[in-house]
Amino acid sequence: MERKVYTLPALAYPYNALTPHISEGQLKIHHTKHHQAYVDNVNNINKKFDDATKSGADVDIKALLKELAFNLGGHSLHSYFWEDMAPPSKGGGKPGGKLADQVNRDFGGLDRFKKLFSQTATSVEGSGWASLIYCGELDRLMLQQIEKHNVNYAPDFTAVMVLDVWEHAYYIDYKNLRAKFVEAFWNVVNWDGIGKWFEEIKGWY
Ligand code: MN
Repeated sequence: MERKVYTLPALAYPYNALTPHISEGQLKIHHTKHHQAYVDNVNNINKKFDDATKSGADVDIKALLKELAFNLGGHSLHSYFWEDMAPPSKGGGKPGGKLADQVNRDFGGLDRFKKLFSQTATSVEGSGWASLIYCGELDRLMLQQIEKHNVNYAPDFTAVMVLDVWEHAYYIDYKNLRAKFVEAFWNVVNWDGIGKWFEEIKGWY
Protein backbone atom coordinates (compact mmCIF):
# COMPACT_ATOMS: atom_id res chain seq x y z
CA MET A 1 0.00 0.00 0.00
CA GLU A 2 1.26 3.49 -0.87
CA ARG A 3 1.80 5.40 2.33
CA LYS A 4 0.89 9.06 2.73
CA VAL A 5 3.77 11.51 2.48
CA TYR A 6 4.25 15.15 3.42
CA THR A 7 3.96 17.78 0.72
CA LEU A 8 5.20 21.36 0.69
CA PRO A 9 2.30 23.58 1.83
CA ALA A 10 1.41 26.34 -0.63
CA LEU A 11 1.90 29.92 0.53
CA ALA A 12 -1.22 32.07 0.98
CA TYR A 13 0.49 34.89 -0.97
CA PRO A 14 2.71 35.17 -4.06
CA TYR A 15 6.50 35.13 -3.71
CA ASN A 16 6.76 38.86 -4.37
CA ALA A 17 4.05 39.77 -1.81
CA LEU A 18 6.38 40.51 1.10
CA THR A 19 8.61 43.01 -0.72
CA PRO A 20 10.47 45.16 0.11
CA HIS A 21 10.91 43.44 3.48
CA ILE A 22 11.52 39.97 2.07
CA SER A 23 12.40 39.79 -1.61
CA GLU A 24 10.82 37.45 -4.14
CA GLY A 25 14.12 35.61 -4.64
CA GLN A 26 14.69 35.18 -0.91
CA LEU A 27 11.20 33.89 -0.20
CA LYS A 28 11.15 31.59 -3.21
CA ILE A 29 14.45 29.87 -2.41
CA HIS A 30 13.46 29.59 1.26
CA HIS A 31 10.15 27.93 0.44
CA THR A 32 10.99 25.83 -2.63
CA LYS A 33 14.52 24.75 -1.68
CA HIS A 34 14.98 24.88 2.09
CA HIS A 35 11.49 23.92 3.28
CA GLN A 36 11.13 21.42 0.42
CA ALA A 37 14.34 19.71 1.55
CA TYR A 38 12.93 19.08 5.06
CA VAL A 39 9.75 17.64 3.53
CA ASP A 40 11.76 15.36 1.23
CA ASN A 41 14.09 14.29 4.03
CA VAL A 42 11.24 13.24 6.33
CA ASN A 43 9.59 11.32 3.51
CA ASN A 44 12.89 9.59 2.69
CA ILE A 45 13.49 8.65 6.33
CA ASN A 46 10.00 7.17 6.62
CA LYS A 47 10.64 5.25 3.39
CA LYS A 48 13.89 3.88 4.81
CA PHE A 49 11.95 2.54 7.80
CA ASP A 50 9.28 1.07 5.51
CA ASP A 51 11.84 -0.55 3.20
CA ALA A 52 13.69 -2.02 6.17
CA THR A 53 10.42 -3.27 7.64
CA LYS A 54 9.65 -5.03 4.36
CA SER A 55 13.05 -6.64 4.03
CA GLY A 56 13.55 -7.23 7.74
CA ALA A 57 16.89 -5.35 7.61
CA ASP A 58 18.32 -3.41 10.54
CA VAL A 59 18.39 0.38 10.40
CA ASP A 60 20.92 2.78 11.91
CA ILE A 61 18.25 3.87 14.32
CA LYS A 62 20.21 6.47 16.25
CA ALA A 63 21.30 8.32 13.12
CA LEU A 64 17.87 8.06 11.48
CA LEU A 65 15.98 9.33 14.52
CA LYS A 66 18.34 12.25 14.92
CA GLU A 67 17.70 13.19 11.29
CA LEU A 68 13.97 12.62 11.70
CA ALA A 69 13.63 14.97 14.67
CA PHE A 70 15.62 17.69 12.89
CA ASN A 71 13.69 17.46 9.64
CA LEU A 72 10.25 17.09 11.25
CA GLY A 73 11.00 20.22 13.27
CA GLY A 74 12.08 22.00 10.10
CA HIS A 75 8.89 21.04 8.30
CA SER A 76 6.48 21.99 11.06
CA LEU A 77 8.20 25.25 12.05
CA HIS A 78 8.34 26.46 8.44
CA SER A 79 4.66 25.54 7.96
CA TYR A 80 3.80 27.84 10.90
CA PHE A 81 6.20 30.54 9.75
CA TRP A 82 4.59 31.12 6.32
CA GLU A 83 1.23 31.67 7.99
CA ASP A 84 2.72 34.17 10.41
CA MET A 85 3.44 36.60 7.58
CA ALA A 86 1.20 38.63 5.27
CA PRO A 87 1.76 41.31 2.62
CA PRO A 88 2.72 44.64 4.26
CA SER A 89 -0.66 46.11 3.22
CA LYS A 90 -2.32 43.59 5.57
CA GLY A 91 0.51 42.78 7.97
CA GLY A 92 2.33 44.78 10.62
CA GLY A 93 0.50 47.04 13.04
CA LYS A 94 -0.78 45.43 16.18
CA PRO A 95 -2.81 42.44 17.29
CA GLY A 96 -6.40 42.76 18.47
CA GLY A 97 -8.85 40.68 20.49
CA LYS A 98 -7.77 38.03 22.94
CA LEU A 99 -4.18 37.99 21.71
CA ALA A 100 -3.77 41.70 22.44
CA ASP A 101 -5.19 41.19 25.94
CA GLN A 102 -2.92 38.22 26.62
CA VAL A 103 0.18 40.02 25.31
CA ASN A 104 -0.62 42.97 27.55
CA ARG A 105 -1.10 40.74 30.56
CA ASP A 106 1.91 38.46 30.05
CA PHE A 107 4.41 40.95 28.62
CA GLY A 108 3.18 44.31 29.82
CA GLY A 109 2.28 45.55 26.34
CA LEU A 110 3.05 45.05 22.67
CA ASP A 111 6.23 47.12 22.59
CA ARG A 112 7.81 45.11 25.36
CA PHE A 113 6.71 41.84 23.76
CA LYS A 114 8.22 42.89 20.41
CA LYS A 115 11.46 43.83 22.15
CA LEU A 116 11.67 40.48 23.98
CA PHE A 117 10.70 38.45 20.90
CA SER A 118 13.27 40.34 18.80
CA GLN A 119 15.93 39.72 21.45
CA THR A 120 14.97 36.04 21.50
CA ALA A 121 15.44 35.92 17.72
CA THR A 122 18.63 37.91 17.42
CA SER A 123 20.39 36.05 20.24
CA VAL A 124 19.80 32.51 18.94
CA GLU A 125 23.20 30.82 18.99
CA GLY A 126 23.79 29.71 15.40
CA SER A 127 20.73 28.71 13.39
CA GLY A 128 17.29 28.60 14.96
CA TRP A 129 13.98 30.16 15.79
CA ALA A 130 12.14 32.49 18.11
CA SER A 131 8.82 31.02 19.15
CA LEU A 132 5.89 32.25 21.20
CA ILE A 133 4.15 29.38 22.91
CA TYR A 134 0.94 29.12 24.93
CA CYS A 135 0.40 27.08 28.07
CA GLY A 136 -3.27 26.40 28.75
CA GLU A 137 -2.64 25.16 32.29
CA LEU A 138 -1.12 28.47 33.35
CA ASP A 139 -3.07 30.52 30.81
CA ARG A 140 0.21 32.11 29.88
CA LEU A 141 2.27 32.97 26.82
CA MET A 142 5.95 32.11 27.02
CA LEU A 143 8.96 32.62 24.81
CA GLN A 144 11.05 29.82 23.44
CA GLN A 145 14.40 29.98 21.70
CA ILE A 146 14.91 26.97 19.47
CA GLU A 147 18.39 26.10 18.18
CA LYS A 148 18.45 24.35 14.80
CA HIS A 149 14.86 23.03 14.49
CA ASN A 150 14.69 20.90 17.61
CA VAL A 151 17.23 21.89 20.28
CA ASN A 152 16.05 23.69 23.43
CA TYR A 153 12.58 22.76 22.30
CA ALA A 154 9.98 21.99 24.95
CA PRO A 155 7.41 19.57 23.54
CA ASP A 156 3.63 19.86 23.92
CA PHE A 157 3.35 23.64 23.89
CA THR A 158 1.66 24.91 20.77
CA ALA A 159 3.48 27.64 18.87
CA VAL A 160 1.40 30.79 18.55
CA MET A 161 3.95 32.44 16.24
CA VAL A 162 7.48 31.68 15.11
CA LEU A 163 10.28 33.54 13.39
CA ASP A 164 12.97 31.80 11.39
CA VAL A 165 16.43 33.24 11.99
CA TRP A 166 18.47 30.68 10.10
CA GLU A 167 20.80 32.60 7.80
CA HIS A 168 19.01 30.92 4.86
CA ALA A 169 15.94 33.05 5.78
CA TYR A 170 17.66 36.39 5.11
CA TYR A 171 21.14 36.14 3.54
CA ILE A 172 20.06 37.31 0.07
CA ASP A 173 18.32 40.42 1.44
CA TYR A 174 20.30 41.25 4.57
CA LYS A 175 23.61 39.35 4.20
CA ASN A 176 24.73 38.58 7.78
CA LEU A 177 22.57 41.27 9.41
CA ARG A 178 20.05 39.22 11.34
CA ALA A 179 18.83 42.15 13.42
CA LYS A 180 17.80 44.03 10.24
CA PHE A 181 15.76 41.03 9.12
CA VAL A 182 14.10 40.72 12.54
CA GLU A 183 13.20 44.42 12.39
CA ALA A 184 11.75 43.96 8.89
CA PHE A 185 9.65 40.98 10.04
CA TRP A 186 7.45 43.29 12.12
CA ASN A 187 6.25 44.94 8.88
CA VAL A 188 4.89 41.66 7.53
CA VAL A 189 3.77 39.95 10.73
CA ASN A 190 0.27 38.56 10.19
CA TRP A 191 -1.45 39.64 13.41
CA ASP A 192 -4.92 38.79 12.03
CA GLY A 193 -3.94 35.21 11.29
CA ILE A 194 -1.92 34.79 14.48
CA GLY A 195 -4.80 36.25 16.53
CA LYS A 196 -7.29 33.78 15.00
CA TRP A 197 -4.90 30.89 15.60
CA PHE A 198 -4.42 32.01 19.22
CA GLU A 199 -8.19 32.04 19.79
CA GLU A 200 -8.38 28.52 18.40
CA ILE A 201 -5.58 27.36 20.73
CA LYS A 202 -7.26 29.03 23.72
CA GLY A 203 -10.48 27.24 22.81
CA TRP A 204 -8.82 23.88 23.49
CA TYR A 205 -8.65 24.69 27.22
MN1 MN B 1 14.05 28.41 7.17
